[in-house]
Amino acid sequence: MRHIKNPPNPYNRYSAEFVGEPPPTKLEVFEETATKKVITKAFASDWDGGWRYTVNCYRGCIHGCTYCFARQYHEYLGYGAGTDFETKIVVKSNAPRILREELKKTRDKMPHLDFSFATDPYLPLEAEYKLTRQCLEVCADFRVPVGVITKSPLVTRDIDVLQKLKVTVFFSLPFLTKESSNPFEPYTPVPEARFRAMKTLSDAGIKVGIGIAPVIPGYNEPDIPGLLERAKEAGAGRAFMSMLHLDTDSIEDYFVQKMHERLPATRVTKIINTIKRERGGTLRHRSYKERGEGKTEQWEVTKKLFDFHARRLGLSGHHSPETSEPENTQPVQASLF
Ligand code: SF4
Repeated sequence: MRHIKNPPNPYNRYSAEFVGEPPPTKLEVFEETATKKVITKAFASDWDGGWRYTVNCYRGCIHGCTYCFARQYHEYLGYGAGTDFETKIVVKSNAPRILREELKKTRDKMPHLDFSFATDPYLPLEAEYKLTRQCLEVCADFRVPVGVITKSPLVTRDIDVLQKLKVTVFFSLPFLTKESSNPFEPYTPVPEARFRAMKTLSDAGIKVGIGIAPVIPGYNEPDIPGLLERAKEAGAGRAFMSMLHLDTDSIEDYFVQKMHERLPATRVTKIINTIKRERGGTLRHRSYKERGEGKTEQWEVTKKLFDFHARRLGLSGHHSPETSEPENTQPVQASLF
């Protein structure tokens, strides 16, 4: 049984600490119908780099990856970045209708939409709500090219819609085995299931790729060649990789706390020391520019390892995140309407 564990929310004036054992967590689903915009502009150093237009039909993510940078967005809602992010899920139930209205206004100017960044578009609730599916149908109607990034085989349910789109589906697959995935991605579909789904999509004529993100220094670098090989066998044509970045104090706290719970102490010490070497003494990057890059020769070796195997396998790939600092975080609509 899981119990509530949230680092203090920096946006709240007060935080509660439980006396004794915290209460067990339970899944809570909130439907939000007041959404006025579902397209937002996000700076993505992890995935192709640069500014992206993104759509997220949910807030929070049941998959609960301990490193997830989207955890910070839950704090804006007054929730915690820890178990709250994994168990208090907001469903934007009018997202498909709003997306259609927004795309009508952009009049063929929307270059590309990405389904990801603040949640997994195929978290388990999508099986019931079908909001990502409906939004993809809207994109097909407006002929908007799409990118999807997911950890879930549920995406194969939507092959019929994906076949109508210009789309690449990336599977986020940073670890080769269930055992190595479990400490960091405890509630996600196992890597084997993701590779099977990749093959199913590829066999259906849909472009697929692999995202080796995050590379956790001192932990999963040896998985890189094997991951690229498995992806190639499953039909991938593209690959990207990026280094772990712990964007806020809360995410760092939660990440470290969960490592201590799930890995032997010597392993945790090794990982923490390796990350600190890459970050110049701390676990966090000092500036946005340094978010996706390590500082040591070892990180250069890791990038060369990725390059070598991606080239050998004929995968088009990248690992160099955009290094320019984001200049504004305003939604894009103003420039499109
Ligand atoms: S699946 Fe993606 S959005 Fe969900 S917790 Fe993991 S990294 Fe975050």
